[in-house]
Amino acid sequence: LVARMREFGTTVFATMTRLAVETGSINLGQGFPDTDGPEAMLGRAVEAIRGGLNQYPPGPGVPELRRAVSEHQKEYYGLGYDPDGEVLVTVGATEAIAATVLALCEPGDEVIVFEPYYDSYAAAIALSGAARVPVPLRVDAGRFTFDPDELAAAVGPRTRAILVNSPHNPTGSVFTREELASIAALCEAHDLIAITDEVYEHLTFDGVEHVPLATFPGMRDRTVTISSAGKSFSVTGWKVGWVCAPYALVSAVQAVKQFMTFTSSAPWQLAVAYGLRHEMEWVAAQRASLSAKRDRLTEGLVAAGFDVLRPAGTYFIQADIRPLGFDDGLAFARQLPERVGVVAIPTQVFYDHSEYGARYVRFAFCKRDDVIDEAVDRLKRL
Ligand code: PMP
Ligand code: GLN
Repeated sequence: LVARMREFGTTVFATMTRLAVETGSINLGQGFPDTDGPEAMLGRAVEAIRGGLNQYPPGPGVPELRRAVSEHQKEYYGLGYDPDGEVLVTVGATEAIAATVLALCEPGDEVIVFEPYYDSYAAAIALSGAARVPVPLRVDAGRFTFDPDELAAAVGPRTRAILVNSPHNPTGSVFTREELASIAALCEAHDLIAITDEVYEHLTFDGVEHVPLATFPGMRDRTVTISSAGKSFSVTGWKVGWVCAPYALVSAVQAVKQFMTFTSSAPWQLAVAYGLRHEMEWVAAQRASLSAKRDRLTEGLVAAGFDVLRPAGTYFIQADIRPLGFDDGLAFARQLPERVGVVAIPTQVFYDHSEYGARYVRFAFCKRDDVIDEAVDRLKRL
């Protein structure tokens, strides 16, 4: 393995899911729902296969999906993207993130990330030869947020891009307009590219609104907006993602994507196009259902003795383990399956400054109510 990848090992999601299977534990670690996406959308995938959509689709993606993504950006956010040239379909958001970083960052460049950060960001940045510059999210008034001065201080002469994930995995924070405005101002002042990971765009609660960074003045022209179907439609195994950006940025990303995977699976693309056009009511109902699950797991974790930060978005909850007499989330998460048969993710693995995250573990609540209840019963035995 090349030196620049050696620090990464196996992803925490694979490790913890294997542990869940080996110990027969309830898996509240890796974020994937235990119910399927909308029935009619699933049927569209089957129809696409039966109907013969089984050969290479065009490199940028099936036209129906590019149009549906473009319409979605317009309808929800008022953002206009040309489906022919400003929208690119990828193999999940993961490929979009990697291809974008590889396309835009030179060795020696710096990329700012908020820590805790989704694990693929660090690997993609390392593969490009650039360096990550972490800016910590800290808890203030019950949510993870950043200090705008600390963010500004992270910008240097080699800063090329800032990677922004809101709604944020693993903390569940949804950045406010003020927070996003401070990021936008910095991008403008220092001529930075913004790469935004918006895969949880439809999973926000209590009326909290997701605002794409690209909607801020001047930002559409310097932002690569990334999302995917996995979370919105509960089809994480389909791996259909997309990029929306100005022509020059999309063509750079496509230049890399074409040699990573050339193109993405055809039948799922057609089904996701259907989902974006006809299943947004299902998505709204799913959001309401997830909001109730958030409350259910939050209350359960509190009853089990954790200090809990109620998230405004995503399907993850951060739980502070100190009231239970623990202070190392990594050790806690390693023992949890053996002790009570539940798997969680130690938040500190998403940090460079792991001490900032040591007290937290992440629980996923995108699970059936009976599964959440059983997990809570088990955690009460701690
Ligand atoms: N970004 C974040 C923040 C995620 O949580 C995930 C999903 N696990 C991804 C990207 C990857 O999305 P996809 O499965 O579409 O590649
Ligand atoms: N995004 C999901 C999570 O954070 C799953 C990621 C993965 O399995 N790579 O749990």
